[in-house]
Amino acid sequence: MSKQRILIKYGGNAMVNPQLQQEIAAQIFKLREAGFEVIMVHGGGPFINKALEKAAIKSQFVDGLRVTEAIAFAEIQKALIGEVNADLISTLNHNKLKAVGLSGKDGGMVRAKKYHHKSAEGSIVDLGLVGEITEIDDSLVNLLCEAGYVPVVACVADGADGTSYNINADTFAGKLAAAVKANQLIVLTDVDGLFLNYPDPASIIRELDENAVNKHMGTTIQGGMIPKIQSCMLALKEGVGKAIILNGTRPEQIATYVIDNEKIGTTLTL
Ligand code: ADP
Ligand code: MG
Repeated sequence: MSKQRILIKYGGNAMVNPQLQQEIAAQIFKLREAGFEVIMVHGGGPFINKALEKAAIKSQFVDGLRVTEAIAFAEIQKALIGEVNADLISTLNHNKLKAVGLSGKDGGMVRAKKYHHKSAEGSIVDLGLVGEITEIDDSLVNLLCEAGYVPVVACVADGADGTSYNINADTFAGKLAAAVKANQLIVLTDVDGLFLNYPDPASIIRELDENAVNKHMGTTIQGGMIPKIQSCMLALKEGVGKAIILNGTRPEQIATYVIDNEKIGTTLTL
């Protein structure tokens, strides 16, 4: 039987501290030792914010998605691939893993097109070079996983006309998880899960099905939580067995959930 596959989305807000990155690496090592294949998709929000600030480019968000002009895209790509991805690879490899840094562009793995966003009020918003995935070729990830590597993927991809797009990392992770037939999707962020009364951690919602998602969308589910929950639901619908939101600032939650099967985080179900 082939190995179980886990796709981990590592959010930018949970990677600001280098010590945390080391601990995440140690958790991935544990998963590999326990016989799982691991694929990582990462964001880089705080690093992107810093790069844009330095370049005096203002950031604007619509429903948790970053509006991306061409000059902003250039900075985002530099931060994601040249900084976040490169540093993650060093950290993972320093922690006994064989990590390979990629973006959706490599080997033509992920194809994208311009994303036309419909806001909650129903109007179409132009987000610039924000893309949505049209197609994924899973062969490169399969090759790497089967050879014992940990693919670490930055969320940019090219369109058929050669235009590069920035893709929300949560959305990218959900789609990639489905395309590579991951058994589990773990979305790591900087809170324990979805809180009914944000920011009260005691109000964490342990399990959320499609009805509950529809009920809470736009109210409890806000900002950065919107693409996370949507991507978990999409992954489940496209065949990923399990989807959960965990706290990446508490890296031990990964093994606690995957190996010890403890009930933590916010689990999404259909
Ligand atoms: P990441 O870098 O992990 O993608 P985001 O900032 O995009 O992080 O998304 C996580 C954030 O979502 C939390 O830090 C929190 O501020 C926000 N959030 C909005 N609504 C909620 C909620 N109901 N429960 C928990 N967090 C929420
Ligand atoms: Mg986010």
